[in-house]
Amino acid sequence: MASATKGNCYLCGAELGKVAMKNHLLKTHGEAAGQECCLLKIEGAYDKDYWLYVDIPVSSTLNTLDTFLRKIWLECCGHMSAFSGPGHREIGKNRKLGVFSDSDQLLHEYDFGSTTETLITVIGRTFRKPQKEAVRLLARNIPPVFRCAECGADAAYICAECIYETDNPFYCEACAEGHEHEEMLLPITNSPRMGVCGYEGDQDTYIFISPKVMPGGKSK
Ligand SMILES: [Zn+2]
Ligand SMILES: [Zn+2]
Ligand SMILES: [Zn+2]
Ligand SMILES: [Zn+2]
Repeated sequence: MASATKGNCYLCGAELGKVAMKNHLLKTHGEAAGQECCLLKIEGAYDKDYWLYVDIPVSSTLNTLDTFLRKIWLECCGHMSAFSGPGHREIGKNRKLGVFSDSDQLLHEYDFGSTTETLITVIGRTFRKPQKEAVRLLARNIPPVFRCAECGADAAYICAECIYETDNPFYCEACAEGHEHEEMLLPITNSPRMGVCGYEGDQDTYIFISPKVMPGGKSK
């Protein structure tokens, strides 16, 4: 995967790198008053090309954040999860976001067998108009494109067996059929848990739709 993947602002459609996105969110979409939130940067701990920015009310708990992380890029079969702070000290899920300070970092671990680790950085306090959902997705990396190991076409699957054997464990629809480990194929997902356990991303409904093409959508 190319380094420094770009992402989309889910509020206005802007396409920017990870750092520029942070500045964009603070400058363009910051409100002066309203519901007080923490702006969070969320990244795959070992693959930072997967990244998100969200805001979440200071009164919400880590439990709410855990539920969101499971939906957008983790849940396969209900594994256990935990948050921890410096020195790997566990932080209880009933802790409110408001207790954290700017630039605090938390590690989230999902599944203590085939663990997926997520790094969460508190960027700062922001305000927003009250939302129905506690966690609001503000920006996300553009889904990376993978090439089929056999024919070079756009891949649709990752082989959970070939991961251990080759550099390119990706296959297109056509080449997936009859692949020697056909039963090990998992769909390509926009998640650091792609190809792990039975992860299929079926709860990830956070697909980017450009506000510019949405009916009635207005671009700023
Ligand atoms: Zn924007
Ligand atoms: Zn699983
Ligand atoms: Zn192919
Ligand atoms: Zn294979």
